[in-house]
Amino acid sequence: MRVAKETVVAIEYTLKDDQGNIIDASGDRGPMEYLHGAQNIIPGLEQGVDGLVAGDTKSVLVPPQLGYGEYSEKLLQLVPLNAFGANTPQIGMRFHAETNLGMRVLTIKKIEGEEVTLDGNHELAGKTLHFDIKVVSVRAAELTELSHGHPHQSGGCCGGGGCGSGEASSEGGCCSTGEASEGGCCSSEEGASASSCCSTEQPVAQPQGGCGSGGCGCSA
Ligand SMILES: [Zn+2]
Repeated sequence: MRVAKETVVAIEYTLKDDQGNIIDASGDRGPMEYLHGAQNIIPGLEQGVDGLVAGDTKSVLVPPQLGYGEYSEKLLQLVPLNAFGANTPQIGMRFHAETNLGMRVLTIKKIEGEEVTLDGNHELAGKTLHFDIKVVSVRAAELTELSHGHPHQSGGCCGGGGCGSGEASSEGGCCSTGEASEGGCCSSEEGASASSCCSTEQPVAQPQGGCGSGGCGCSA
């Protein structure tokens, strides 16, 4: 079976920057599974995988506009140091915050006197990405996967992906709002925001909103 829309694809990948430094790799995490054609992964990588079959390997070059976007100065903002309250901000620190573009991951870029510069760009914005990929498996997506917009692992919806309980308990698919999954993704109202849930440990090839290895987009 070839990779096409409505197939679930598992790939192993290594991601390098222009200098050949490894930025991310599926490695010990195991292959990354995603639903093809559902914007689970960045467009440039998805285009690169299209039409391949299991066992194929390929190098895929992804320019910023098909990856994490160009670096935008508009996503820099200044906040007063005292906005951090008792927390001591440090350069490189990252956190989620509501911005006029919705919930985003912000990185502390600069601290000058009483002013802190926050950067809302993705850490890979403006970068050309060099992927070496291997297609591990390709299968037809199931109906529930198509309706949820992401693949399901053996445990059902988000079963193995660290997304709290399975879909049985959750109306409208996994990761709907307010689900009482302790420490899992999407456990609060934030789940409603496409960019905020499931914020930790996601493979870098997935845009914000992925969860666990399964890619739980919270769009259900
Ligand atoms: Zn699901």
